[in-house]
Amino acid sequence: MPIPTKIVCVGRNYAAHARELGNDVPERPLIFLKPPSALIGDGDAIVLPPESQRVEHEAEIALVIGRRARNVPAAAAMDFVAGFAPLNDVTARDLQKADGQWTRAKGFDTFCPVGAITPAAGVDWPALEIVCRVNGDVRQRGRARDMTFDFPALVAYISRVMTLEPGDLIATGTPEGVGPLEPGDLVEVEIPGLATLANPVTG
Ligand code: MG
Repeated sequence: MPIPTKIVCVGRNYAAHARELGNDVPERPLIFLKPPSALIGDGDAIVLPPESQRVEHEAEIALVIGRRARNVPAAAAMDFVAGFAPLNDVTARDLQKADGQWTRAKGFDTFCPVGAITPAAGVDWPALEIVCRVNGDVRQRGRARDMTFDFPALVAYISRVMTLEPGDLIATGTPEGVGPLEPGDLVEVEIPGLATLANPVTG
């Protein structure tokens, strides 16, 4: 896959997670961007920045775009998805609240670990699950079918805003259970049956 031109993220796409942070469930997908400079791979370290006192994990299923998508109808949207990968939408929660918008909180270097891509062909995507473990303890567990906006709806919505290019990533939202990361932690994001992403955390 080519390096993504953009990483489009979806906020509050699981109702229970929206509520745990005191937010309403959005009426339409709430999208934001992470910079490609935040990308790291399996095994690379998440570096906690000195600007934040509260960095949290957000385990998510990422869609990998396979071909250029513009104004795609939902019924055809999955034809534009080449694969699925585990992604950690690492977030400086204190800076997210302080800034009022999310670019800094979501955009630090190393704040977008992405794991191995599984080809989409043959994957029963509504049955996909997402799990987060910190030091072996399960912190998050969610199911794609519990999303407020499903994968086709997200691809269709985003492709009406911006042209999606091959390699672009869509992070489809995190289930409830987000929590802090500390130096020395090992955080894992798993799509059971597909791939596991593991990253150590350093100060
Ligand atoms: Mg997120």
